[in-house]
Amino acid sequence: MKADLGSEFPAFLEAMSQPPPVSIRRNPAKPSTELAQSEPIPWQPDGRYLPERPSFTLDPRFHAGAYYVQEASSMLIYEALRQTTGIGQPLRVLDLCAAPGGKSTLLLSAIGEAGFLLSNEVIQSRIAPLKMNLEKWGHANLSVSNHDPEDFGRLNGFFDLVVVDAPCSGEGLFRKDEDAASHWSEASVAMCAARQQRILSAAKDLVRTGGVMLYSTCTFNSLENEQNVQWLMDNGGFEPAALSFPSEWGIATQKLGYQCFPHRVRGEGFFMACLRKTGEQPIAAATTNPPKDWQRLTSRELPIVQAFFSKPADFEFYRKPQGEVVALPKAQLDTLFTVASALRKRSIGIEIGELKKQDLVPSHALALSNDLHPDLPKADLERDEALLFLKKENLWKPEWQRGWTLASYGGLPLGWMKVLDNRSNNYLPMDWRIRMAVDGGR
Ligand code: SAM
Repeated sequence: MKADLGSEFPAFLEAMSQPPPVSIRRNPAKPSTELAQSEPIPWQPDGRYLPERPSFTLDPRFHAGAYYVQEASSMLIYEALRQTTGIGQPLRVLDLCAAPGGKSTLLLSAIGEAGFLLSNEVIQSRIAPLKMNLEKWGHANLSVSNHDPEDFGRLNGFFDLVVVDAPCSGEGLFRKDEDAASHWSEASVAMCAARQQRILSAAKDLVRTGGVMLYSTCTFNSLENEQNVQWLMDNGGFEPAALSFPSEWGIATQKLGYQCFPHRVRGEGFFMACLRKTGEQPIAAATTNPPKDWQRLTSRELPIVQAFFSKPADFEFYRKPQGEVVALPKAQLDTLFTVASALRKRSIGIEIGELKKQDLVPSHALALSNDLHPDLPKADLERDEALLFLKKENLWKPEWQRGWTLASYGGLPLGWMKVLDNRSNNYLPMDWRIRMAVDGGR
């Protein structure tokens, strides 16, 4: 770093000894005015710096998906998209190394309802937290998969944008993550660079001609950063897509990418390169049939599930063999079915629950969906009550409407309760419940 940074090195070293800034990115689909008050992050309209780190666990809005806790530098990919693919465009996007979902939730907000996101993570144990974060974000225009980058051959040339936020040596996180610092060695940098090259070598064919590849790491060394970008250009038919940033943002322009250094940018060390595919990319054949063993709902069942949706006509509903009902946005139907037929370990759309005797037992994902009907029965809770609900306690008030009712906080749904005449059942999934004490040991 000393050799690379020259006279800036002491400032860099000083910044690395300071506590990292705290920042969040708001969910534009779940507006919360309070969160808008804090200091904006210049490159992300929904990004906010917080003056200190609160207990996110004790904030019901965090559980409702009103925001994602994300360090500020990595939100720069939003600006890269603004300048290349555009925002709100009907893009097909693949996030190849997605867990726990920071980039994926940003990508969903950037494409809005118009596009489609395939959020993939190879390590199976990281799928549950990824799914949880995506469910909180509330979008239906997505698929989540659990595959190695080499398994995607049937989707060659399918994507307008492929994001490779690669596993790396984490030099940019040393002040936040002592593990990253203690595991660092020259050998581990070389190992990371080789692994990144393997990932890129699979990812390069997935981008359509004219499409964009966004490669990022949270490290500083050129072996993992620019040398891999150069490899991609030499071997994948890519050219750099030049970006420009206002100088006051402090982002360093390198030959083949952009680097955030913590002494110049209020965030962690983050590297990003944006490339456009100019080479000819053959496209794999699409399949547009639903999975063979999925059934459409009957005309008697349809109104039961449609009642939960604000715009039911925008969705098709299928039942999977084990009984779960899935809602698929019609605008992305062909894309969803193509992905479903190309990959074995994947989910598509949102699982909305199970039909039991003329009743939908609604899933937690449906409670958090942005497509939920706004007039469903709600019990708006005070903060203390909301935290008890999030601890999976059964709450009850005589005035609450009987039946499926959304426990909510500040208008944001937190989960389902089934309200009976003198009690209620809390349907929050066990894995989602808050485990820490919320009020004097309770
Ligand atoms: N994009 C995520 C976000 O913004 O929240 C962070 C991704 S993290 C930097 C890199 C991810 O790559 C990890 O989830 C890790 O499990 C995954 N990974 C590890 N080895 C991999 C491999 N060989 N191929 C693809 N992904 C891998």
